[in-house]
Amino acid sequence: MALIYEGMTCAICDQSLDIHGAIVATTHFITDESDPLWRFSDAAMHYSCFQQWQHREEFVRKYNATMGTMIWDGKRQHMKMDGSIEYVPADFTHVAASRTKRLGMILSNEAASTLKHLEERTKAARQGYGDPKLRQDIRDRHAAHRDPRAVIDLLTLLFREKFADVTRVDDFQAFRASGLDIVAVVDLRVVDGTSRHPLTAVDIRVHLFDDKACKIGEARGIARRDYLSNPETPGEDSLLNVQAQAVRGVAAQLTLLCK
Ligand SMILES: [Zn+2]
Repeated sequence: MALIYEGMTCAICDQSLDIHGAIVATTHFITDESDPLWRFSDAAMHYSCFQQWQHREEFVRKYNATMGTMIWDGKRQHMKMDGSIEYVPADFTHVAASRTKRLGMILSNEAASTLKHLEERTKAARQGYGDPKLRQDIRDRHAAHRDPRAVIDLLTLLFREKFADVTRVDDFQAFRASGLDIVAVVDLRVVDGTSRHPLTAVDIRVHLFDDKACKIGEARGIARRDYLSNPETPGEDSLLNVQAQAVRGVAAQLTLLCK
């Protein structure tokens, strides 16, 4: 809980709070100051303001993805959609009967902007990075080893192996409306190598939540290649290969998670 004191105001509407009335309050669980929800993470809000708040679902998801994954005495906190917090058994070590579960897949905002950035760079590769003298076959070779969206295709194939079916959904609200059983939120970070900084690294994190926005598992795959360490096999360091390797890491963890 945030420090609650007489005279504090609601973080949503800025009006005074009755601290003995119905409020939603959390401890400081968002550490990134650039996060628009940061100032709400160590604050109190009117219960009624919270219910109508446009960021409610994202706030609940972030709470459950951070505070909700910490275990004390075999229990962990779970924030319900109305902002109240309950203690539930910390048993998210496996996904039972995953082959019967219908999965929704959400790309996090970070993943979406990573992909957008990579697509812009791929376009630049195809155009010879603005160098009109670069031969067409070299431009084609630059572009051939790049397919930023391939990582999503590979993850989709992987999820199809583990779950009954996979549907892309935009956000938690769409997931809840869809009636699907489980949602996978995909985070993606990429260091895109250049000839001057020839390291390519891909970090994929898949967070699994049930239909009550309760976290039930996580799978992570990290891969990195440095072209200079392997100069005789061009293409080995390509974005495509590193993405595929990172997905294999996710696959290994998901296999342990899904029963
Ligand atoms: Zn309020």
